[in-house]
Amino acid sequence: MSAEEREIRRLAALARYTMLDSDPEESFDRITRLAATVAQTPIALLSFIDNRRQWMKSRIGIDLVQTGRDGLFATHPIDCQQPLVVQDTHAHSTLATSALVQGKPYLRFYASVPLVTPDGFTIGSLAVADLSPRQMGGEALAALGDLAKLSMDELELRQIATIDALTGVLTRRALFDTLEREFARTRRGQRGFSLIVFDIDRFKSINDSLGHPAGDEVLGQVARLCRKRLRSSDAIGRLGGEEFAILLAEASIERAAEVAERLRSLIEGTAFTVADTPFRVTASFGAAYCDAAGPPPETLIAIADQAMYDAKQAGRNSVVVAERSADIASATASE
Ligand code: GH3
Ligand code: MG
Ligand code: MG
Repeated sequence: MSAEEREIRRLAALARYTMLDSDPEESFDRITRLAATVAQTPIALLSFIDNRRQWMKSRIGIDLVQTGRDGLFATHPIDCQQPLVVQDTHAHSTLATSALVQGKPYLRFYASVPLVTPDGFTIGSLAVADLSPRQMGGEALAALGDLAKLSMDELELRQIATIDALTGVLTRRALFDTLEREFARTRRGQRGFSLIVFDIDRFKSINDSLGHPAGDEVLGQVARLCRKRLRSSDAIGRLGGEEFAILLAEASIERAAEVAERLRSLIEGTAFTVADTPFRVTASFGAAYCDAAGPPPETLIAIADQAMYDAKQAGRNSVVVAERSADIASATASE
């Protein structure tokens, strides 16, 4: 694998955890607190490193949100995949002139361990630092290594819980979390977003004719087909059974209707193959819009679901858009 190829795969591994620019979280603050305690340093940092910056998910004793990708603090974990211990930055050939050493916060001692994914890519580091030179024992360094592994365990467990094993899209729970976050952003003044719900038509007959495992295979194929057509800012999840939902970030209801129609026609036009048997499926779609006035996630799903049910009633393999979701929501709420 060339270095360039490896970096692309490393960035893809990092992107899967969707950590960059996320809010601070107690599970990672706990780890930096422990790191500072075992290393007995005033500063501890847990960071993720992408192609242009080292971004701090959690930090103690230092007011630094992110820093460049090109300094040794960021390049060492990725290039060497080994711990780095610098007892005195002033005596170090490259770090002595680093901005964080020459200027605020004037780092003198620095030690880091890499955050390595199960498939061997370094996506960040756990580091401790001090403002005067010092030494670090093997036990403390080993404890830092364990804390780095605990951070990775946390990230991996989240992956398992957020991805639906059968289809590879988000679980219902994870999709809900994403909806909640998007709704909060919209309330803070960001543009509204749309939600599409779709359900495969006459799915029971697929199970009945080809068997349940074949039905499972169809679910996966349909989900992957749709996911491939979405933007990276969109999210697709499985609500349950053969029903899916798609969050379209910053999308008007008109755009949602277009996307739903494109996916409907894509599914209808695709020749699926399961157990060497070619066959076709269709799906029914509903779409609804949410802005700062709402509706909240649970109601939004119910509204899109009702539109999808209307599409079923209208003969299936079609798209129905819920008009003015916010009005419907307030009407439903006051019933
Ligand atoms: P409609 O067009 O009205 O949606 O008809 P339908 O047959 O798709 O609808 P219905 O909800 O009656 O049936 C859904 C079926 O999906 C019933 C259930 O056995 C099947 N199903 C639910 N979850 C799974 C799954 O994980 N795998 C498989 N193979 N089938 C599933
Ligand atoms: Mg169905
Ligand atoms: Mg269903």
